[in-house]
Amino acid sequence: MSAYKAPLRDFQFLINELVDFEAIAKLPGYEEAPDVADAVLEEAGNFASNVLDPLNVVGDREGAKYANEAVTTPKGFKDAYHQFAGAGWVGLPMPVEYGGQGLPWIISTATLEMWNASNLGFSLGPLLNQGAIEAILLCGTDEQKALYVPNLVSGQWTGTMDLTEPQAGSDLAQVRTKAVPQDDGTYKLSGQKIYITYGEHDYTENIIHLTLGRTPTAPEGVKGISLFITPKYLVNADGSLGERNDIYCAGIEHKLGIHASPTTTMNYGEKTGGATAYLVGKENEGLKYMFIMMNAARFSVGGKVMRSPIVPIKRRSPTRASACSPRISRPKSGRPCASSSIPTCGAC
Ligand SMILES: Cc1cc2nc3c(=O)[nH]c(=O)nc-3n(C[C@H](O)[C@H](O)[C@H](O)COP(=O)(O)OP(=O)(O)OC[C@H]3O[C@@H](n4cnc5c(N)ncnc54)[C@H](O)[C@@H]3O)c2cc1C
Repeated sequence: MSAYKAPLRDFQFLINELVDFEAIAKLPGYEEAPDVADAVLEEAGNFASNVLDPLNVVGDREGAKYANEAVTTPKGFKDAYHQFAGAGWVGLPMPVEYGGQGLPWIISTATLEMWNASNLGFSLGPLLNQGAIEAILLCGTDEQKALYVPNLVSGQWTGTMDLTEPQAGSDLAQVRTKAVPQDDGTYKLSGQKIYITYGEHDYTENIIHLTLGRTPTAPEGVKGISLFITPKYLVNADGSLGERNDIYCAGIEHKLGIHASPTTTMNYGEKTGGATAYLVGKENEGLKYMFIMMNAARFSVGGKVMRSPIVPIKRRSPTRASACSPRISRPKSGRPCASSSIPTCGAC
């Protein structure tokens, strides 16, 4: 039974009365946002109520399971993820040129709040993915953007943030993961990361880890940290998947709460001496790039904190899983009608 009902009127009030949405809509690319905002929020509310909320209790009771370097998510989560990605929710605020919906973050933030409120364990995966996309978009080469971003935006792959180590939590100056440059321009990474959210899972064929490491000549402290792209499966130049990289999950944390979200320990280079990795930006400037991901995570975690008072507002009778999607048609004039343009659940 779904207990979650999105507070759409509150979101509409915030967007239309408190935020200067008109000014946002004047920014290049956002001109049509006011026409679709209400319909997108309504669709998000339906997805949260009909797909994510009923799985919340399953995720809590069943939890993610670890065995043989693999993680199995709770029953129904993989399917929900594919509905989520297929409906275009992963790329809602991401650039259209990379396959995103190109909508302003103010709308995406409202949807994020709905994912958080209806199923926190589920919502943590897409959260970290968004930070990884932003870091590659802002600091990656054109080649890296073309190779990784479209599949992260579509949700075909997921991205992670691999910072924390057993001796390096708040104090990233202590990061020890070794990154040894190779003749071909790649790096070999060895070390261990802990507490990596969705570092391993069964949703997608590939996982793109954004990893902090230190080259042999790097200065001590935070001025010697570099950021690397470390794919679970190497990606060939034509975009196809190559060999399995030497980054494996060694276990997941047993936590109070968010049981559905795998918080993983990741071993780099244990089998072959080094996981193949690609430098993002310049050596020793990784802390700066890391803050792109960290700020995205902080922003979204703030949304998670707000979720608690909003959760079970009203009991609803169970409804079937919906195909609710943010892909609203954008007419040149007039307001779009979600129900006329896309498949929706019965409540749309
Ligand atoms: C559910 C979950 C998911 C996570 N997901 C990720 C992830 O996806 N990727 C990732 O890289 N990490 C992740 N983390 C790790 C998280 O970022 C770290 O837990 C965090 O950086 C704190 O590190 P720590 O746990 O080692 O605590 P510590 O750094 O040991 O801190 C312990 C306490 O000491 C305080 N403290 C630390 N240093 C100082 C100081 N200099 N002065 C005063 N007080 C101080 C801290 O505020 C804290 O209260 C996750 C953690 C959790 C619990």
